[in-house]
Amino acid sequence: MLISEDFCLKTFTTFGVEVRTHRFIVVSSKTDLEELFEEGYLKERPRMVLGGGSNLLFTGHYPGLILSSQMRGKETVKETADEVWIKVSSGEYWPTFVDDVVEKGYGGVENLCLIPGKVGAAPIQNIGAYGVEVKDVIESLEAFDLDSGEIRTFRNEECNFGYRSSIFKTKEKDKYFILNVTFRLSKKPKLKLSYAPLKQLFKDRKDGKISVKEVSEAIKNIRNSKLPDPDHLKNAGSFFKNPAVSKEKADELKNQYPDMPVYPQPNGKVKLAAGWMIEQCGWKGKKEGDVGVYEKQALILVNYDNASGKEILRFSQKINNSVRKKFGINLKREVIVI
Ligand code: NAP
Repeated sequence: MLISEDFCLKTFTTFGVEVRTHRFIVVSSKTDLEELFEEGYLKERPRMVLGGGSNLLFTGHYPGLILSSQMRGKETVKETADEVWIKVSSGEYWPTFVDDVVEKGYGGVENLCLIPGKVGAAPIQNIGAYGVEVKDVIESLEAFDLDSGEIRTFRNEECNFGYRSSIFKTKEKDKYFILNVTFRLSKKPKLKLSYAPLKQLFKDRKDGKISVKEVSEAIKNIRNSKLPDPDHLKNAGSFFKNPAVSKEKADELKNQYPDMPVYPQPNGKVKLAAGWMIEQCGWKGKKEGDVGVYEKQALILVNYDNASGKEILRFSQKINNSVRKKFGINLKREVIVI
């Protein structure tokens, strides 16, 4: 365990803004958390758990306690002829875990390769890409209740998973420290190739003949060609969520903008592409000071050098204002602003 005070967070978020926190504690085990609880550290407010910092924007110094997981390790806890259950500690790096299981031929997370962040953060945000959400493969997770010091197991259905959301991002925000997540993966994978670039790539191939490794390699190529690597260009992935609107609103927009992509959802709503709307408002590739919209993908805001969190937030509000004016849609942030 490592306890630091007045700690700089610049390298702890992928936006790389220069802010400090009153206290920063690196947690390596359940015992660390028990000790912190006994000694009263966890009573400090505000208090939050930091994952890989790949979905966060700090707009000022943090006047409280930040906990970060360094818990490592993974183990197979159950196996049948068709499936395997793997328990992974929260501090493991998500893309490495995906590569590991893809290499073994286990299916379920291959569409989620290269999403930056730690395993413990994946359920909080219910990370998703190319038609797969992590909720599809989560069996359960164990979390430490920071208020009571107790450990609780959440089954999948208790996590209230939604689009880029869960109970840990809403009702129970900042109450739990996720210790580990158990994933249920398939040894006879059913691939999800419904998104256009995958459909196109594999159109001449028979489903049963395509490996999870091929799908993951294809997605890596697509992502690398249009998404910035946070190690080289500071960003937090999609800044906004794709809005879901009523069919009437979608029809009205489609009449006005025939090229607009629309994705009808099983619940009757219609998903719109926030990036497309931002691009139509002329923001793609635009830069103001050190903040900008990524030139290849309008959903991503970039800190080109030393932008502050407040500058990035103000820039995002301008984008939202123009989308609201042109399309009558209020974009919601995917990135958590603190
Ligand atoms: P894209 O192909 O330009 O499409 C724009 C949006 O349309 C996507 O965000 C996606 O929504 C939606 N979409 C596309 N095809 C769809 C289909 N067949 N059915 C339903 N919805 C569809 O998207 P992109 O920016 O290159 O992203 C590709 C994938 O990577 C997306 O799933 C995206 O969410 C994911 N991604 C995630 C992050 C992150 O930070 N979590 C960052 C970058 C990309 P959905 O987003 O709902 O899938």
